[in-house]
Amino acid sequence: MHQLLLKNISQLVTVGTGGDRVKAGGAQRELGVMENASVLIENGVFRWIGTQGDAPPGLKEDITVIDASGKIALPGFVDSHTHLVFAGSREYEFAMRAGGKTYQQIAEQGGGILSTVHATRQATKRDLKRLAQGRLDAMLQQGTTTVEIKSGYGLDPDSEVKMLECIHELSEEQYSTVVATFLGAHAFPPEFRDSRDSYVDLVCDRMLPYVAKRRLAQFCDVFCESGYFSVDQSRRILLRAHELGIKLKVHADELAASGGSVLAAELRAASADHLEHIDSDGIALLKNAGTVATLLPGVSFFLNHGYAPARKLIDAGVPVALASDFNPGSCMSFSMPLMMTIACTHMGMTPEEAISASTINGAAALDLSDNYGSIEIGKKADIVLYDVPNYRYLIYHFGTNHVSLIIKHGVILEF
Ligand SMILES: [Zn+2]
Repeated sequence: MHQLLLKNISQLVTVGTGGDRVKAGGAQRELGVMENASVLIENGVFRWIGTQGDAPPGLKEDITVIDASGKIALPGFVDSHTHLVFAGSREYEFAMRAGGKTYQQIAEQGGGILSTVHATRQATKRDLKRLAQGRLDAMLQQGTTTVEIKSGYGLDPDSEVKMLECIHELSEEQYSTVVATFLGAHAFPPEFRDSRDSYVDLVCDRMLPYVAKRRLAQFCDVFCESGYFSVDQSRRILLRAHELGIKLKVHADELAASGGSVLAAELRAASADHLEHIDSDGIALLKNAGTVATLLPGVSFFLNHGYAPARKLIDAGVPVALASDFNPGSCMSFSMPLMMTIACTHMGMTPEEAISASTINGAAALDLSDNYGSIEIGKKADIVLYDVPNYRYLIYHFGTNHVSLIIKHGVILEF
């Protein structure tokens, strides 16, 4: 029974909920901050939390003690929306956009999501895994200890399974907690350009049953947007997933208020993600459904296409999570502190709300908040120390990595 004691933590941000699965409304601003705190970890879970002067109970002789003076501690970040498994990169496209080219012109020159589909189909599972391992390690080094990863660059049965097997192996072999999402309905593959409903049939009749049988994904997601998967097509796919025991997410209202958030609420999805164009009806429906609104500030920043109405969502009582959407086309960053900075500078969120959004609410979007997302007795000991004077400073001093020590499931990680 190994014990680890962190003592003299200048500022401990617990993000404690007192048993709630998520923070919504005014509660999203309550972080449970303690000064000069100590945390006792035993067998990978938080066993005791106190302040200087309190004596931790039941200390063993072979305990590891860490003096965290001058540092702050936060729960490990939960990045609940990424497309981290992919081959290739699209900096040429970025440069074309910077040079004033339109999306259409870029697509004509072979850019866009289908270029990533092409590269990912060509790659072996081993290559995909090697690339993903490097990214997961880099995320850990920046404080992210739980990561959701979507398929969706295969878009045929074999390539989607290759991606999901890769994600599954990462979940077994890496330090990070990895959650797999099947996103066969990310885009229509070129071979189904003129027979879109046949691709929906393929997803519902072949891919989903196979994914469910082999338990390759905990969630199913759909890119629901006019011009992509219609509300009816998305509903068909998500209902089939639900029937097969897979939980639901929706890429919703990114380009227009096209019914994605309404559908997410109707099906009581765990989260509705993007929401740059959600309207007040969608907001009210999400609130009533208890669906987490997962906002992706890095995408709006990188594409310069407008931000989700975070303030309206929070004020309406919808729990808001932040995630990176890390992917080669619209956000080539997985820095959660950067996402928080953008959320505060461009979306009207407070630093407190941004921290809840990046920890407990991200965990709730993955249905993991019983075990992850806050520093509370009995939860998994994912805790990160930062060399900053207080938690606000972490978001304020952006563009640099302030991590000092990473502890995952009670284990100190060395890089
Ligand atoms: Zn996405």
